[in-house]
Amino acid sequence: MTDTPVKLGLIGWPVTHSLSPQIHESWLQQQELTGSYGLVPVEDPAHLAGKLQELTQAGYRGVNVTIPHKEAVVPLMDELNPAAKAIGAVNTMLFEEGQITGHNTDAFGLIENLKQQVEEWSPTEKAVMVLGAGGAARAAVYAFQQEGARILITNRTLEKADALCQEFGAKSVAWEEKESALEFVDLLVNTTSLGMTGQPALEIDLGPLPSTAIVYDIVYNPLETRLLEQAKARNLKAVTGLGMLIFQAQKAFEIWTGCVPAVDLESLGQSLRKLC
Ligand code: NAP
Repeated sequence: MTDTPVKLGLIGWPVTHSLSPQIHESWLQQQELTGSYGLVPVEDPAHLAGKLQELTQAGYRGVNVTIPHKEAVVPLMDELNPAAKAIGAVNTMLFEEGQITGHNTDAFGLIENLKQQVEEWSPTEKAVMVLGAGGAARAAVYAFQQEGARILITNRTLEKADALCQEFGAKSVAWEEKESALEFVDLLVNTTSLGMTGQPALEIDLGPLPSTAIVYDIVYNPLETRLLEQAKARNLKAVTGLGMLIFQAQKAFEIWTGCVPAVDLESLGQSLRKLC
């Protein structure tokens, strides 16, 4: 890297409540790099191509992409990394020598968070049940497939779970019957939007889960979802999605700058909690 300011940002709609500027600007400071992380609101997907051209010309090094454009930007990339290709979505772009490479760091973020939060735990050969079959589920299923887990997928719309199972070699469970499969599950992961502020809570009886099971909610707003409260009430290990957000950002920062920022999950988590 040269001394050129590292111009970074986030494309999405809406972007005003994003925690990414705080995360990346603290790492620019930590790594003694000059630069900034700005918000780039784009509502209409038809404006994405023009916006990317504008950012390239303005000397941007890279951007993150969030809802609703993670899939829409895929055809606009000159190249895709293997994770972005398999997941079919881009959350990080690198602008280099007139080319745009699309990456997906969500899968890395999820696994890294899990490994940091649950010492000496690995998904390899474990039974993982993924709730949901949307964009976040695709990243989760890809991540667990890469780790060699046995994957069950359940989703309100069964056809979407079946399609995902076929693509990634997983097994589907009907949404109405999810509790019946919990008895043999080592890790339960919510990737639906249920439990998010403004959405209904996820209704599930965790009773049949083994006492050693881990419950992971990738929803991080609010941090304490009802699912995690239920898990704690049963003395199960409960993991919030805030760490996934932080670790997907760490990988993006590395892609842009070549530096791996030190992550103090506890203190970064505490300052971000105030913003949630
Ligand atoms: P998405 O593509 O819209 O998928 C939504 C999923 O939720 C689908 O499986 C959908 O089922 C299910 N769902 C929605 N309403 C439901 C209901 N009333 N009952 C049952 N299922 C319902 O959304 P996404 O992009 O995957 O995001 C999902 C969540 O993950 C969001 O809360 C997002 O903030 C979070 N997320 C967190 C991180 C992180 O870093 N921690 C990263 C990415 C996403 P159907 O298929 O039946 O519609």
